[in-house]
Amino acid sequence: MSFKKTPITVAYGDGIGPEIMTAVRQVLDAAGAQIDYEEIEVGERVYDRGFSSGIEPASWDSLRRTGVVLKAPITTPQGKGVKSLNVTIRKTLGLFANVRPTRTYTPYIQSKHKNVDLVIVRENEEDLYTGIEYRQSYDGVQGLKLMSRPGCERIIRYAFEYAQARPRAKVTCMTKDNIMKMTDGLFHQVFEEVSSEYPNVETEHMIIDIGMARVADTPERFDVIVTSNLYGDIMSDVAAQICGSVGVGGSINIGSQAAMFEAIHGAAPDIAGQGIANPSGLLLAAVKMLKHIGQGETAKRIENAWLKTIEDGVHTGDIYREETGTERVGTEGFAKAVIARLGEAPKKLASPNEPSVDMARTRPSQRQSVTKTLVGVDVFVHVLWAEGEPDSLASDLLAACPSVLKLEMIDSRGLVIWPDGAPGTVQTDYCRCRFSQVGATAVTHHDIVRLLDNLAEWGCDFTGVELLYNYDGGRGYSLAQGQ
Ligand code: NAD
Repeated sequence: MSFKKTPITVAYGDGIGPEIMTAVRQVLDAAGAQIDYEEIEVGERVYDRGFSSGIEPASWDSLRRTGVVLKAPITTPQGKGVKSLNVTIRKTLGLFANVRPTRTYTPYIQSKHKNVDLVIVRENEEDLYTGIEYRQSYDGVQGLKLMSRPGCERIIRYAFEYAQARPRAKVTCMTKDNIMKMTDGLFHQVFEEVSSEYPNVETEHMIIDIGMARVADTPERFDVIVTSNLYGDIMSDVAAQICGSVGVGGSINIGSQAAMFEAIHGAAPDIAGQGIANPSGLLLAAVKMLKHIGQGETAKRIENAWLKTIEDGVHTGDIYREETGTERVGTEGFAKAVIARLGEAPKKLASPNEPSVDMARTRPSQRQSVTKTLVGVDVFVHVLWAEGEPDSLASDLLAACPSVLKLEMIDSRGLVIWPDGAPGTVQTDYCRCRFSQVGATAVTHHDIVRLLDNLAEWGCDFTGVELLYNYDGGRGYSLAQGQ
């Protein structure tokens, strides 16, 4: 029986990317995957041609047309003012969930742990990965951590939908909401709200630091972990490494319109071109892709052959150990070993339980209406402290206040330095000045503009402004430390 071929976009990437993609395509072809490959070029060479996004406009046509992408890792030049292509693709295609399963393959792949079968569901579009950063002054830089209620709801619902189809049906949420009460606090709060819709799923919340430590120490206690972008990224490498190697982790980036399949590891420049990289992460990602495009039988054949190869001890260098391996192979040798085992089944290792999620069920709920009241403004100021300590700055700021606003405090990197601040903290050349409502008098945008105008007249070098709102009477901004 011949199937209609499914078009997919394929990117060979950088570093070990071309080697592992070649190996993966050999296995897919040998297994009879019915795929029409559309190749696009992304990454280092595209950055070098002057495209700061790492991708040329024409390649977006292919990504949008096929809606299915198999991508090898790429190098994101550090610094240099270019943006991460991985983040851009995930956000442009609306791939809000990054699903990263990790399991142990003991005794075949050495690990201090056994019986680990956890899935990290990582939010993919928000958090510090928005990459919105500013230089505030000579000394100071700032990065914005952006989270939204719909963004939290979607990823958390996805995690619950995923978990309820697994035998243990447990979701652990990890945040740092003891410190970031508004951003991580929102994630935690939405987790509690959504959990009430899934009474059959066991839930728990952990602060990310102890949570990460527990993942490293007793990973078998976890089933599905849902967390925000940065924590999830770090945690999935930790989890994969302690279970054997980052080289065996495959991941799905999924949204309602498109999906991208990739290994969890990077371009591994230290071993690129040597023919020794483990293609397993990308191969397991390709298996998930085949299931996604309805070629489940072919996926199963490859998965079984891969598990049998691992059981037989044919291993690449990253996982090969004398005690567990029988043959140490390179990238190509590993692909050949998998191809030779197509049609065979593993004796002990079971296939992973990776349910697919109905995207319609992840839709965020309707926005509730709230009353929003402007109650003040934070003005970030570039200041040369040699000209005067906080007291003299404060007296200039007080003089600039329109009648409805008063200077409430000045802080340095979040710690109050006026009034009654710790003088030892005045080491940087920027500060935040909080102006708040006088009594119950309504504050308007005109009042804020008047304040800024007064500050400009006086020659104040302000570098940023954040308006302070209350929502339904509750504070929509955090207090400073010591406030
Ligand atoms: P890395 O994952 O590339 O490498 C970390 C270590 O793991 C290295 O020692 C490497 O040799 C080893 N390793 C990784 N994959 C392996 C494999 N398949 N087989 C055997 N060993 C493997 O992480 P890094 O060194 O921090 O990053 C290198 C580059 O990759 C950076 O430019 C980074 O931005 C990029 N990166 C890309 C992606 C992606 O495209 N999705 C993800 C992470 C990092």
